[in-house]
Amino acid sequence: MKEGVPDITFQNWAKTFSCQPELYFQPTCIDEIKLILEKAKENDKKIRVSGKGHSPSDIVCTTDYILNLDLFDNVLEVDEENCRIKFEAGMTVKKLNQEILPKYNMALTIQGSASDITVAGSISTGTHGTGKNIGIMSTYIAELEFLTADGKMMKCSREENKELFLAALCGLGCLGIITSITLQCEPHFKLHQKQLSCTLDEMLENLDGHICKSEYFRFCYFPHTDGVVYWEVDKTTCPMKSSANWFWDYAIGYHLLQFLYWISTFFPSLVPIINVIYYRFLHSSYREDIDDYYKIFDFECLFVQYVTDWAIPRENAAKALRDLVSWLEANPDTPAHFPVEVRFTKADDIFLSPCYGRDSCYINILKYRPYGKYVEIEKYWTAYETIMLKYDGRPHWAKAHKLTYKGLQNMYPEFQRFCEIREKLDPDGRFMNNYMQRVFVPKSKSD
Ligand SMILES: Cc1cc2nc3c(=O)[nH]c(=O)nc-3n(C[C@H](O)[C@H](O)[C@H](O)COP(=O)(O)OP(=O)(O)OC[C@H]3O[C@@H](n4cnc5c(N)ncnc54)[C@H](O)[C@@H]3O)c2cc1C
Repeated sequence: MKEGVPDITFQNWAKTFSCQPELYFQPTCIDEIKLILEKAKENDKKIRVSGKGHSPSDIVCTTDYILNLDLFDNVLEVDEENCRIKFEAGMTVKKLNQEILPKYNMALTIQGSASDITVAGSISTGTHGTGKNIGIMSTYIAELEFLTADGKMMKCSREENKELFLAALCGLGCLGIITSITLQCEPHFKLHQKQLSCTLDEMLENLDGHICKSEYFRFCYFPHTDGVVYWEVDKTTCPMKSSANWFWDYAIGYHLLQFLYWISTFFPSLVPIINVIYYRFLHSSYREDIDDYYKIFDFECLFVQYVTDWAIPRENAAKALRDLVSWLEANPDTPAHFPVEVRFTKADDIFLSPCYGRDSCYINILKYRPYGKYVEIEKYWTAYETIMLKYDGRPHWAKAHKLTYKGLQNMYPEFQRFCEIREKLDPDGRFMNNYMQRVFVPKSKSD
């Protein structure tokens, strides 16, 4: 086994969180992972697994051992008849989409906006896309295998160890090290995407109509304007079609936006003007594309940013958005970057899924960090979180939030059951870090 490497700095994609683990491991097989678990036990060290480090929080961070599975990403089995594929846990969504699934004429039903992330990392944090009848990515997993802290291999699915499966499908990396994933795919498909625009009022007045009109509906609101851009996306068999857009295709829009938002860090009153220009002249025009599913799912997230994303019951979406807009109007000293992205997902039964038991609406806010510069987010974030809590929100696990055990225990009907499973599988807290400590351990007996 390759020895762990010291003096590595782990940094997440947005460069907002980092840590210096004592040792950083990149195992290539299950036996090596078992040896690392033994070593951690001998030396009483914690272990966190990192996927592609895209989580905008300290969820991966530890000063003990980080185990990265980039070198453990082979395909293990393909069941073409049932459209299922089993692979090692370092597999990325991008590799599946571009290299593996095309060989078998298969496709993912859903993914998030980014694809250079692992499937294991995605499901561990409840990563979602959009679509009224589409669940979060974890709902498309057929079977999981993972190693517990004492090196025991667990296998679970809806048919075998169901309770464990429902916990591990969104396990935050604290139940064990996922080694293999069997994913339920579907036959390859193309998507037809229409980009349209309207006012926020028009969107919210007929929100259900919009949500039901297309399979993968979502929209973006541009703060400080009255406008939204929305996308109607459906499966199609029509020929490929692309509306070229030189401004975005040659990344001019990207560089200009970064520059303008950077200027606005000195003159914050420019933000509304920038948003209006981008909305009116660059985003609100009609466009239509037909392409492979994953090229439509991949969404350009531009440059590094602070971001937070909560799920609320779908019926609260319009009220929550109206509250957010009212707050922004009442607080012009707190300019908000675009977009506020709004997506929809189907209810599920996964213990820690933010969509547990309810059809949901995710409202994602962000603030870019132009050229990596620090930007103030506290006031906007606090207002947003207050609104999300008012409407029964649950935070995305990957994205930084202030909730602790006390606030979370009543948010999830199966929270205690998850905690019991975690304590049973990992009695010594081998997979704990500061984030896990905050969310799974009461601060005092009264919590
Ligand atoms: C640009 C960008 C776009 C995004 N778009 C979306 C989006 O559209 N929708 C959405 O819901 N989220 C989105 N996210 C969040 C992203 O999907 C999650 O952060 C996801 O977890 C990242 O996967 P990763 O491979 O980088 O995992 P990491 O961030 O490295 O790890 C995430 C968690 O998974 C655990 N983990 C990873 N591998 C294993 C394993 N083998 N066994 C056990 N635990 C493991 C880690 O310990 C950690 O707790 C986005 C993030 C970025 C930066």
